[in-house]
Amino acid sequence: MSIEKTASLVLSVMPYRESSTIAALLSRNYGRINGIAKGVRRSPQSPLTLERGQLVELVLYLKPHRDLHTIGAVSVINYFPAIRADLGRLALRDACFELILKSVTASETHGELFDFALAFLDRLEKLPGMPFPVCELWSFFHGWARLLGFLLNLRECVRCGSPRVASAGGMVVPEKGGLLCSSCARNAATAPSFLPGPAAAFLLGEGPYGKEPLSAAFTPGERIRITRLLADYCRYHLDIRSELKSLHFLETVLF
Ligand SMILES: [Zn+2]
Repeated sequence: MSIEKTASLVLSVMPYRESSTIAALLSRNYGRINGIAKGVRRSPQSPLTLERGQLVELVLYLKPHRDLHTIGAVSVINYFPAIRADLGRLALRDACFELILKSVTASETHGELFDFALAFLDRLEKLPGMPFPVCELWSFFHGWARLLGFLLNLRECVRCGSPRVASAGGMVVPEKGGLLCSSCARNAATAPSFLPGPAAAFLLGEGPYGKEPLSAAFTPGERIRITRLLADYCRYHLDIRSELKSLHFLETVLF
């Protein structure tokens, strides 16, 4: 057994017995791990709680070849008050967490995944007014795919190489990891898997598409479709069979 200190995001918590909690964590130093925190649930003796969505620093008693480690002292670094107070931000966070929980299973070092997830929460926390919040989730899905090695190529058509897809959009072909332009797929623009030009340009960080104009470019129905399209792209590559449940919640809250 080794004793280690690490920053972690609390992805989910489950009460265990009278006063303990089992937490799923994304840690900076040890990847995705599960830990049991004894005696942390709210009680007169122990006012500290371990809650979903917190950034904590904790002491871990790591047992080799075990799935469940013991959590020692916990200190909360950030509990993201603006996210907690807003259903829309919570829904976006939950979609992000669900994808993390379903895509990272091994206890390996994933410092870059941890930093990327934390940066997403920091943006959600600080966005003033959030003119078009769901595009933050699009960025998250797209960046997560890149980090896990299946970046969606938005720069050229996967068949003819045309760079037009970056501004005109194209039909997402998950197994090819890219888009088909409207010359290569005649019905691309009306296909359910069409990624419109403004969304492609936004994800590439190009074009005149700030968040306000971006929100005007899509109907609520289109926003849902694009959100699911990008989530499904990740699901395909991660072999996640079931839909992300959190997207239902997101739909009811944001659209
Ligand atoms: Zn083409």
